[in-house]
Amino acid sequence: MSELPFSFHVTHTDGRARRGTMTTAHGAVETPAFMPVGTQGAVKAITHRDLEGLGAEIILGNTYHLYLRPGDDRIARLGGLHRFIGWSRPILTDSGGYQVFSLAARRRIGEDGAEFRSHLDGSLHLLTPEKAADIQANLGSDIAMVLDECVAHPCEAGPAAAAMNRTLRWAARARERMVAIRANAVDSVAVSNSGQAQFGIVQGSVYPELREESARGSVALGFEAYAIGGLSVGEPPDVMYDIVSRTTPFLPASRPRYLMGTGTPQDLVESVARGIDLFDCVLPTRNARTGQLFTSEGRINIKNARYTEDQRPPDPACSCYTCRTFSRAYLRHLFLAGEIGAASLNTLHNLNFYLDTMRRIRDAIAFRRFESFRLAFHQRLSRQATDS
Ligand SMILES: [Zn+2]
Repeated sequence: MSELPFSFHVTHTDGRARRGTMTTAHGAVETPAFMPVGTQGAVKAITHRDLEGLGAEIILGNTYHLYLRPGDDRIARLGGLHRFIGWSRPILTDSGGYQVFSLAARRRIGEDGAEFRSHLDGSLHLLTPEKAADIQANLGSDIAMVLDECVAHPCEAGPAAAAMNRTLRWAARARERMVAIRANAVDSVAVSNSGQAQFGIVQGSVYPELREESARGSVALGFEAYAIGGLSVGEPPDVMYDIVSRTTPFLPASRPRYLMGTGTPQDLVESVARGIDLFDCVLPTRNARTGQLFTSEGRINIKNARYTEDQRPPDPACSCYTCRTFSRAYLRHLFLAGEIGAASLNTLHNLNFYLDTMRRIRDAIAFRRFESFRLAFHQRLSRQATDS
């Protein structure tokens, strides 16, 4: 087997925060990095050209959605996900498990996997650890995630331990399947990206001892890197920060660490401070479509009547196209008039804010002033009133 093109190099550290470069089959990603969510092969409301202009180096695709429509086998026949969607930079795909737990109708979880009915047409499907690996191989993403069992919050220690142990058993099966896929030993799979890396996922709800056991078990299976899953599911931020803080020490320093599905700008800063390198979240894109803008002075809701004749840009400190060109008054008008451009302009700004926050985090780590950056970041946000 030839050597994988996947690698990670930490270039700077400041406390527990790290700056580095993650190299994939489709190029490099400066970390800590935020991945915009491109659910169905598109980041909602904006084009790939916009994303490239914003400096997005990696996006996330949702396996559940792409498997159901247009189908991973069809995407493989069309040359893989990168070619199909016209995005040449890195892509990470999730396992599909989270959407099965949150979207699918009538799901049933067993040792074999998760049986569910499509939310589109009611058809019956079985997502196993092997199937999740096969689908992502067909998609040809640069980073594939293992299938895990994510529990809701709150969850008693007993069920949390059971789900964590099942996740470990599923991870072993997923890794075995990946080894077979890399050896071209799975006939049903068309490999369009032979450099695909596979990440394990740490589970264990809010229980530090389960998180440690999960991390140790995952690392023993030898994945290219590791994610922390099952957080940002309703627990208080302080609990999430504490679990992150108590989990990262058990993940290898030489591999990127990915906190799945998180979070607010404050969450990004606090998690970087605890050793996280990768993030994804629908907040900047989803909230943009409901008129909520993340700014350096807190969140503003563009629907608010106070912006009716406000000629200021959404964020005076932002250099994005939206802020350089348009007033809050105009964006509010577009939103209330139901113009589709409102979603595009709001999304462009919110993603710029997230990506720019990551750039400033990386710079702060490189200059070993992350702690002062962190304090200033929180102070600036906490001084400002945030729209409801
Ligand atoms: Zn802006």
